Amino acid sequence: MKIEILGCSGSVAQGYNTTSILLNDSVLLDAGSAASVLPEERLRGIRHILLTHAHIDHVKELPFILEALYSQTDHDVTVWGSANTIEALRDNIFNGVIWPRVAELNRAKALVSFRTAPDDGFAADGLAVETIRTEHIPGSLGYLVTDGPSKVMFSGDTGLAPDLFHLVKSLEGSLKALFVEVSFPDRMEAFAKLTMHLTPSLLGTGLAGLAPTPARVFAYHIKPRYLDEVVAELPPNVAYITGGEVFRF
Ligand SMILES: [Zn+2]
Ligand SMILES: [Zn+2]
Repeated sequence: MKIEILGCSGSVAQGYNTTSILLNDSVLLDAGSAASVLPEERLRGIRHILLTHAHIDHVKELPFILEALYSQTDHDVTVWGSANTIEALRDNIFNGVIWPRVAELNRAKALVSFRTAPDDGFAADGLAVETIRTEHIPGSLGYLVTDGPSKVMFSGDTGLAPDLFHLVKSLEGSLKALFVEVSFPDRMEAFAKLTMHLTPSLLGTGLAGLAPTPARVFAYHIKPRYLDEVVAELPPNVAYITGGEVFRF
């Protein structure tokens, strides 16, 4: 599986883009930055968009991604998310006020469809996708993505997420990589808990119960203003990403 980190920061700052991760050139996980990072011809290759939740750092470029796809491609694009996420997009962004109701602009066939991600998983352009409920906000999801022998997990914004760590444990080391959000430094633990995010110590607690741990663990969604502090506090077996990285698992 090819994984391109287009952006993965927990906020917008100069040089830092919010979350958009491109899988195998055609499946986009979250829509925080792809339109401003990818050239148009690569945007046109996107066929599925998996949304973890509707917070603006994860959806803010969705209107512009869909605009590029809608105007220049003939293939279907499916936007997946929980029922809460799809409803929030319809009511608050694609509502005819903030942005057009894009699903109603479809031409002869449905070029853009919004679909509720089924609990028992779905296929997206050759990838098998399973959803993981997280505690961040109602309807927030993580995704477990399988491509042949490679399994990779993206936590989305999580909160403490015991279900996520139980699932990691149940995979018994078959997970090639875990991308997990860490947003705030340890000194902000109370605020992190209030906003349902992780700190390095809270991540360490979640990882402590895992044996064996996934081959590689990457912290992402770090708030840029706290980057140096968070990186200094990460558990020793956890790397971090800030955007621009490319992996093959
Ligand atoms: Zn976020
Ligand atoms: Zn969020």
